[in-house]
Amino acid sequence: MRCSAPHLLRCVRLQLGSRRGRNKLPLCIRRIWAYMKLLVQSLCFNSLTDSDVVFDSVFEPVFVTVDYITRWFGLVFVCLVVILTSSILVIAYAVLLPLILTTYSPAWIAWHVCYGHWNLFMIAFHYYKAAKTSPGYPPTEKNERPFVSVCKKCIMPKPARTHHCGICNRCILKMDHHCPWLNNCVGHFNHRYFFSFCLFMTLGCVYCSISGRNLFLDAYRALERFKHLDSEKPGMPVTGMGLLIGLLPSGQTNFQTPAPPYTFKDRMIHKSIIYMWVLTSTVGVALGALTIWHAVLISRGETSIEKHINKKETHRMMVKWGKVYRNPFNYGGLNNWKIFLGVEKKSHWVTRVLLPSGHPPHGDGLTWEIFPVKNDLIPV
Ligand SMILES: [Zn+2]
Ligand SMILES: [Zn+2]
Repeated sequence: MRCSAPHLLRCVRLQLGSRRGRNKLPLCIRRIWAYMKLLVQSLCFNSLTDSDVVFDSVFEPVFVTVDYITRWFGLVFVCLVVILTSSILVIAYAVLLPLILTTYSPAWIAWHVCYGHWNLFMIAFHYYKAAKTSPGYPPTEKNERPFVSVCKKCIMPKPARTHHCGICNRCILKMDHHCPWLNNCVGHFNHRYFFSFCLFMTLGCVYCSISGRNLFLDAYRALERFKHLDSEKPGMPVTGMGLLIGLLPSGQTNFQTPAPPYTFKDRMIHKSIIYMWVLTSTVGVALGALTIWHAVLISRGETSIEKHINKKETHRMMVKWGKVYRNPFNYGGLNNWKIFLGVEKKSHWVTRVLLPSGHPPHGDGLTWEIFPVKNDLIPV
């Protein structure tokens, strides 16, 4: 059995309560000492103790603290996502759109306006749904549903693929992970929304990064030029760099002429373009890697948690029995995607994947068909 920190602390408090007044050491020191003593004793008297149990028990106070902080900072992370996305939107509408409308051909204007707004709507829809949709919880009342184990924290039956979330402090159906950026767990009922949000946010960032690349280079060069103009006072000799970037045509006097007019607005426009490009490129790379990772897991019919469980199980089966472990929830690459996206006929690839759709996921998250199932699970 795993030693839970709250249980150990309760025992420590009981012990200390009966010895009050006999020891001169401060109470907090005595509590820590008693906790460590009890921890060692409980681990030594446990026949099922292994390295995982020791690691989990010793670091349980750290895990509890991290869970506590994540729970309370959840709203801060959500605000950060909304503020950063809104700042990019403001720059896109205030700086990029006027430039596009004045310089691009009608066909390019139509493409940017249609694609940009479709992508924006998909991001907003999937973020809202991922954050607001309940991930799914096992029933708390008595029922006849099959279960695979009992949760040690909730003391409730756990259906297959269900795991306990320390931050939400309850069991989650087909739990993938707890996402601080959503302030919600990712489970059976909102997994698709989470993945679609990651995918469309990555596409949006890549779109901004590629289409804003030339503007970024121009803005960067302009800011560099402004810096040189600031450092070179009138009447001072122009530096070699000043000549290199073409501030003065060759053959002209090597004493600087008055600075060209550039306003506060120009600076702000250039800085906002640089900010937008750096932020979207960074988020595009980081979120792109995360999206690819999740896409690989979905193709294999695994969640992030099952990835680790299956890896351990594969090793255990090979060492103990010499057999290859097969994930019972892997229905084949394409079928996994159809089940995940809720695609039941060809038109669903458009209406349920490329357009915002609030359809429920396949199954109730409590019972699962076990591999091997018939090859053509969904006749599409
Ligand atoms: Zn639980
Ligand atoms: Zn959670």
